[in-house]
Amino acid sequence: MSEATMEAKPNGIPTPEELGFDPAALRQKYAAERAKRLRADGNNQYQEITGAHEHYNADPYVQPGFTRPAMHEELDAVIIGGGFGGLLAAARLQEVGITEIRIIEKAGDFGGTWYWNRYPGAQCDIESYVYLPLLEETGYMPKEKYSFAPEIYEHAQRIGKHFNLYKRACFQTQVKDVRWDDGAGRWTITTDRGDVFKARFMIMSSGPLNRSFPRSRGLRSSKGILSTQAVGTTTTPAGTPPAACTSSRTNASASSGPGRPPFNVYRISASTRCSSTYSSARLPRSTNAATSRPTRNG
Ligand SMILES: Cc1cc2nc3c(=O)[nH]c(=O)nc-3n(C[C@H](O)[C@H](O)[C@H](O)COP(=O)(O)OP(=O)(O)OC[C@H]3O[C@@H](n4cnc5c(N)ncnc54)[C@H](O)[C@@H]3O)c2cc1C
Repeated sequence: MSEATMEAKPNGIPTPEELGFDPAALRQKYAAERAKRLRADGNNQYQEITGAHEHYNADPYVQPGFTRPAMHEELDAVIIGGGFGGLLAAARLQEVGITEIRIIEKAGDFGGTWYWNRYPGAQCDIESYVYLPLLEETGYMPKEKYSFAPEIYEHAQRIGKHFNLYKRACFQTQVKDVRWDDGAGRWTITTDRGDVFKARFMIMSSGPLNRSFPRSRGLRSSKGILSTQAVGTTTTPAGTPPAACTSSRTNASASSGPGRPPFNVYRISASTRCSSTYSSARLPRSTNAATSRPTRNG
């Protein structure tokens, strides 16, 4: 648009004729498409992976039988989840000098979605240069316009190494409960390994789709390989990935207390796109993490 046209309009907004399309009509079209995909049953469209399907919860990429002593630590921040969201949070905290952190991850390595999903042909569908985080910082140039899963998983490991995050990670460890202690001004985070972490800040980056299958999948009759965003199951277990604290995963049930506003809790997801399914609430139950609005206090 020319400067003359800009000057002629008090608000500087071009007309549909000048744009060559009608933004209002386009917005309406997107809203209609979105409405087609919204489901009244929300998160109820998923089922917990329990009972006969419990074996889908097993991590096929780690050696069974890992044990370690329980940890008791006072920290600045605990990050739940070692996917891109957790990695980004950890890297940025390190950059500003907050180093007393723990990343708690039930998998055997970093990567999140890209740790679990290893089915052939899996790749991102947002351009790698946009999708992969911390490319400049790690000095990595993606090989493909749309990276395949192994390259993306490798990049998660690259971030972990570059920012020295492996020593801050507790792998094969599942957060079972998070509680805010008003008096102490600290979160208490407990895990299935008996760990008790006390932290000023808690960052929930446990992923948009965890531990659930779409109800309509006909799981009872399914045979062979089954892959979802939450669990990529293949028949051949791979070798043990690098691990700082590396278990058998158990159910994500946790006790919950009376609701109250969140303190020092950040809930993030690394996804560069958004859909209704991404608001899945398969998180550890918390006394006060019921809202996803990031709130800071103290
Ligand atoms: C094939 C495929 C292609 C995709 N392509 C794109 C794309 O192009 N663009 C895009 O934006 N998104 C894409 N996605 C979505 C992808 O999930 C997100 O981009 C992103 O990886 C999510 O990162 P995250 O850290 O928020 O969550 P996740 O990667 O899901 O990581 C969360 C981690 O938290 C851990 N966790 C959960 N609960 C607990 C607990 N209680 N205790 C300990 N650990 C816990 C989980 O084990 C998991 O490793 C794609 C997904 C798939 C499967």
